[in-house]
Amino acid sequence: MTTVEVLGCNATAPGRTGAASSYLVREEATAVLVDAGPGSLLSFARTHDLSELSGIVVTHLHADHSLDLMAWAYRWTFPDVLPRIPLYVPAEEMGRLERFDELFGIPTLPTMVSPIRSAFDVRGLELDSRTPVGIGSWTITPHRALHSVPSAALRFAGADGVVCFSSDTGPCRGVVDAATGADVFVCESTVLAADDDVIHGHGHLTPELAAGIASEAGARHLVLTHFARPEEAQEMGRIASRHFDGPVTVAREGATVSVDAR
Ligand SMILES: [Zn+2]
Repeated sequence: MTTVEVLGCNATAPGRTGAASSYLVREEATAVLVDAGPGSLLSFARTHDLSELSGIVVTHLHADHSLDLMAWAYRWTFPDVLPRIPLYVPAEEMGRLERFDELFGIPTLPTMVSPIRSAFDVRGLELDSRTPVGIGSWTITPHRALHSVPSAALRFAGADGVVCFSSDTGPCRGVVDAATGADVFVCESTVLAADDDVIHGHGHLTPELAAGIASEAGARHLVLTHFARPEEAQEMGRIASRHFDGPVTVAREGATVSVDAR
């Protein structure tokens, strides 16, 4: 069975509604962490064992999607050193990961001099060439999203279906292509309404725009996530349902969505 578990769906810091962006996408023995927002390690560790993870993919290096990477790396290298797994980030952001290691490395502990590089086999995602990468049974194809930093919409293709994560984005061809025919499309819906600078400049979506992308892409099941104001999430679900014919699910920490392939 293929599932997407929501480990966190806030667009900002953790709050009463749980952690920031993080998901566990699983197909048989292959479980991949998508994004490592603040609170994601705690959310994961409540019900999972670290040995379940086959790899990590971070869509972009804004803090609400990546700040826990150092917590994950510390945990991976102390008190025991766990087997290295791949960590994918947009290739253009490799230097930023190195600076993260420079800031938080511990010179007196040999396994933690460069925690992220020690814990994980760091690899780059090529967004413009959309070069697929493999983790276990998943083939993951990155597409360039529209955001203020390099941002990867991710298309996960497995034996049982296709799951797409929009990453943070404004409306753009890359996200539509990534979500084409997806069985589950996990799409950001950051704000109820926004001006053009937010949507096309910085790059975010409203529920109406998320539903429009899902419709254009022919996705089958829309999961809204990444809420700036979680108290608005249910209203966002109602708005998206008016603009998308298929089922709409509002993400909630701890919820699991089954990938119901054709
Ligand atoms: Zn962002």
